Amino acid sequence: MELPTVTAHGRSDVGRVRSGNEDALLIGRTVFAVADGMGGHRGGEVASATALEPLAALDGRRFDDADTALAALTDAVVRANAAVSERSHAEPDLEGMGTTLTAVLVDGRDAHLVHVGDSRAYLARGGTFVQLTDDHTLVQTLLDQGRITADQVASHPHRSVITRAVGVGDDVEIDGMRLTLRDGDRLLLCSDGLSGVVDDEQIARTVAEHDPDAAVGLLVDAANAAGGPDNVTVVLLTVDGGADPDATAALPKVVRIRTDDAASETHDWATRYSDLGGASRTAVAGVGGSVPRRGRERLLGGTFDRIVLRLLVGVLTVAVVGGAATLGVRVLLDRAYLVGVADEEIVIYRGFDVQVGPVDLKRVEERTGVLLDDVPAAVRPSLEAGRPAADLGDARRIVANLPRSDTDAG
Ligand code: MN
Repeated sequence: MELPTVTAHGRSDVGRVRSGNEDALLIGRTVFAVADGMGGHRGGEVASATALEPLAALDGRRFDDADTALAALTDAVVRANAAVSERSHAEPDLEGMGTTLTAVLVDGRDAHLVHVGDSRAYLARGGTFVQLTDDHTLVQTLLDQGRITADQVASHPHRSVITRAVGVGDDVEIDGMRLTLRDGDRLLLCSDGLSGVVDDEQIARTVAEHDPDAAVGLLVDAANAAGGPDNVTVVLLTVDGGADPDATAALPKVVRIRTDDAASETHDWATRYSDLGGASRTAVAGVGGSVPRRGRERLLGGTFDRIVLRLLVGVLTVAVVGGAATLGVRVLLDRAYLVGVADEEIVIYRGFDVQVGPVDLKRVEERTGVLLDDVPAAVRPSLEAGRPAADLGDARRIVANLPRSDTDAG
């Protein structure tokens, strides 16, 4: 059986509303990708471009087997995550940036796909047109949970809220997939600037009825004709040769790759905290050695909170932007936790302390059994406002370190 050849066409357009293009695309010989950045003025552009670099480095490489190829592709996304994250911490005006990433690696008869965020991959094969990727969005989650209907998705005011992105945390959860290429297959990668305004039926028809080069231009034109509210990026792969197109193969299954199960000790908040021990010691030393034990815990708690806040500032910046979700600004619903109050009880929330319209982006993760009355009046306002935590363990430590009214009346 001959090896398939893959031809790619692509285009990225600023659209009709935005002043800059935060999308990026990669068209190599064997690697193809779309990234849609988010973040401050420069952040989005830098994030999407930075994320594509480790993928470009894979271009042209051949692999011994499918597992090795997918592992290499996944590894490139992990490196993209680290590169974006490191830059966002190093450069203040890039803080909080992140990007979606949907990429394909062609190796022999296989195409490997990795995906994070709400850009999409579609497959046109033998008269069918299917979306290969799941959107990592709040509305998709609400739909999966049966809280909204499919009809409500397209017009939902919070459709720009994404639940995963590259470069916003130490870890990234990646969807992976392998596809055996068939003669005549067309693989479409696009940013939400296309899929958000042009329906699947029109996209499918355009891909089916036109030469790839023309189809790419027509898809961008269709997005702009629909108002062009966002940057629009399209990459279209056309497969010649390879397996028989008539074979009725089952569609590939998505493999969920959780990189937070692998290594990354830096994710553990306790480790990061002890790495920053110098700062804590200085804070305690500043008030002398006579600080009673409970007071010391409280001081440590105070330092702790500030460090947490600094580490979370990127995420929180994005959350604050959430108030502008109706403007189409992308928001990340991250794995952040908050210690707060519900019905006079101190609880651990998961999510953001942002109420966006009817949707509250947080829910009670854990009840603590500690009542607001159990803690001194002085700490209650900060709990009522919500104290951010890096993860669940961090949130539990914040609760454990809270002073109690009976021994520390305040
Ligand atoms: Mn977009």
